[in-house]
Amino acid sequence: MDSQSNERPPVKACHVCQGARIYYLFSTSDYRVVRCDDCGLVFLNPQPSDNELARIYNANYFLGSDSEEGRHVVGEIKQATARLYLSEIRRYHGPENGRLLEVGCGDGDFLVLAEADGWQVTGVEYSAAACEKARLRLKNGEVRCGKLQQAGMPAEQFDLCVISDVLAHIRSPLDFLREIHRLLKPGGTLFVATPSIDSWSARFLRQKWMEFKAEHLTYFDRQTLQTALFKSGFHNVIVQPGWKILNFDYIQKHFERFPVPAITPALNFAARILPKRVQLRHRRMVASGIMVFSQKSEQRPQPVLSVIVPAYNEAKTFAALMDALLRKDLPGLLMEIIVVESNSADGTRQIALKYQNHPRVKLILEDQPRGKGHAVRAALEAASGDYVLIQDADLEYDLEDYDALLEQLVAGRGAFVLGSRHGGRNVMKMRQFTGHHSLSLFFNLGHRFFTTLINVLFRQRLRDPFTMFKVFRRDCLYGLEFECNRFDFDFELLIKLIRKGYRPIELPVNYRSRSFKEGKKVRMFRDPLTWLKALARLRFAKIDPMGVVGQTRAAEPVENSAKAGNPKP
Ligand SMILES: [Zn+2]
Repeated sequence: MDSQSNERPPVKACHVCQGARIYYLFSTSDYRVVRCDDCGLVFLNPQPSDNELARIYNANYFLGSDSEEGRHVVGEIKQATARLYLSEIRRYHGPENGRLLEVGCGDGDFLVLAEADGWQVTGVEYSAAACEKARLRLKNGEVRCGKLQQAGMPAEQFDLCVISDVLAHIRSPLDFLREIHRLLKPGGTLFVATPSIDSWSARFLRQKWMEFKAEHLTYFDRQTLQTALFKSGFHNVIVQPGWKILNFDYIQKHFERFPVPAITPALNFAARILPKRVQLRHRRMVASGIMVFSQKSEQRPQPVLSVIVPAYNEAKTFAALMDALLRKDLPGLLMEIIVVESNSADGTRQIALKYQNHPRVKLILEDQPRGKGHAVRAALEAASGDYVLIQDADLEYDLEDYDALLEQLVAGRGAFVLGSRHGGRNVMKMRQFTGHHSLSLFFNLGHRFFTTLINVLFRQRLRDPFTMFKVFRRDCLYGLEFECNRFDFDFELLIKLIRKGYRPIELPVNYRSRSFKEGKKVRMFRDPLTWLKALARLRFAKIDPMGVVGQTRAAEPVENSAKAGNPKP
């Protein structure tokens, strides 16, 4: 044993955002659990040494039980879960078979089923004992023993890659995802099943969460995993609750091995009184993880920002805004500008037409005004950028703020940034209508009330959820459907992104409030009842990205299904 393999390697920068602001949370079985303050990733730091990990992954690691009967039950449960994964992958990937790679294939439970389902399978497995077993069980499939990066496989040969309960074990998860990206064919599918720190069990059990263990080096959640995938070249991400097939017996044995106060004694008591057949019955449940589906995207030499400008009766400010946008230089980013002109009555259309042939401008002409939300949705369909920024044509916001907002996205600290109109030091800049003090008070009270309501309903700590200045990764929209046509679209967008698992980052921006005389079209709290109803609908409406993707795939010819790029509003 060399001394190096006894050393616990430190993590110097966050795996996802490269940030260095990493703070201690608590310790679990002699390991420090830390959190990146910038993106929220949780991980062990330092990581266990090679020797410590080797002791954990001994020959019995995959057995899951000490007795022959127990192993049989665990095997059945694993197979049922593998069957569930296969059918979910079908929904996302489509009906075509091809070459499948599973990294961390263990004894081959999943590969055996996938082979029977018509896939040409390859497995990679670190444990030599598990490799041997998997090889014996497969008909034509091959199993490579060792680490993925050392297998040295040629690029672009797989249609589908599966990593189930593997990513948390990897020392350098982004390098691992990039290697998978290299091995997949263009448009190929990646399926990830992994524990998620925003699952109900993690929130409920906190430091006693069953997934906190030495061999789990990184703890993703819906947001950090989507960012990790984005940064490794995957898009069209869909996150589903991590359904697993389990039974009572399995759960009770688990908590016997890893005791949790109150829960372990309660389960032990139930085990004594419940009939055996009830304890062994398979149940589909969400325990602690997520299933994530994504596709390999084409890497661009330079990322693109789509600036969306809805323009309706903005003749006074429109040209100034367009010229400022076209002058704006964003280091490292290209910019496309998408203008949606909604047949204004004040000559905005004539001004917009002057920009029609500019190589960086896409002009969409609407026959009639159907609301700002409708215009933005039309622009989103035409957008091709990696990032999207919605800029009102009235120059209420300051273009100088773009750089700071975008930097958050490019670094991977978040996927979705709100420009907050409250200044850095709690200066209330918003709605100070000169000479309308009672009006200001009314709006500010309404703003406070709805802000609190949103924070409570969606477990956020936002200060200004009603800002229209939003910047986000375009991929966030994948699988979402929008129906709001007016100013409520801003709100629908915010809430659907939060419900998809993104935590908005708020940054202060420069904002000049316009009085109603200057043409403010939104009367935010004019009708509080409508807003309350909209909130309730958005909170409880079913969000089913997989269903949306399924419909999109069904509607298009098979050869295009590999790039179901734009979400259909
Ligand atoms: Zn980070």
